[in-house]
Amino acid sequence: MAQETMLALIGRCSGTIAAHAQGLTALDQAIGDGDHGLNMARGFNALAAAAQEIAALPFGEALQKAGMTLVMTVGGASGPLYGSLLIGMGKAAREMPRTSAEAAAMLDAGVAAVKARGKSDAGAKTMLDVLVPVQAALAAGAGPAQIRETADAALAATRDMRATKGRAAFLGERSVGHLDPGARSSALLIHAVCDVLEGL
Ligand code: ADP
Ligand code: MG
Repeated sequence: MAQETMLALIGRCSGTIAAHAQGLTALDQAIGDGDHGLNMARGFNALAAAAQEIAALPFGEALQKAGMTLVMTVGGASGPLYGSLLIGMGKAAREMPRTSAEAAAMLDAGVAAVKARGKSDAGAKTMLDVLVPVQAALAAGAGPAQIRETADAALAATRDMRATKGRAAFLGERSVGHLDPGARSSALLIHAVCDVLEGL
């Protein structure tokens, strides 16, 4: 069962990244170097290729292996950051979480790893501006519908933020008025995960 769920999660996440790669790249062209879609598509293709091998592992190890796959293949700033997220989550959860509280604790560990890796926090116009509020919503007991809404609102809020981390920080005030590409990929992945988990 857990194995099937892991296969479904990888399939859905890699599918959504492939479908939105151009849009992610367009966002990164506006405030970065225009490679985020390509980076993510390369990483999630590698994840899809390793899906069977990953899904055969116990849950926590599977997440860590998925994270290492992303570190090795995504490249850019986002590769090590998404890798840290999954490795942090995998270290915190031996088995697939059964309650929102367990899921929130797992995501909290992943978000802490992203913050440490990126020397960053929410408010800097990055993926953390989606991940942090989603973790808080989960901790407050939100279900999939509320989690999706939280992710969408958090993504929209990155438009008016000024970047202080990552490449977009070089633009200073000129980073205002554009969605953050990593916040967009995070929101897409959160939708994909909610879709799969809701269907169980
Ligand atoms: P690069 O910036 O190296 O070209 P990508 O384009 O793949 O890498 O990823 C850019 C995204 O990475 C940004 O939109 C942002 O969300 C995220 N990011 C960059 N630096 C940081 C950081 N220090 N902390 C958290 N997220 C970051
Ligand atoms: Mg980039």
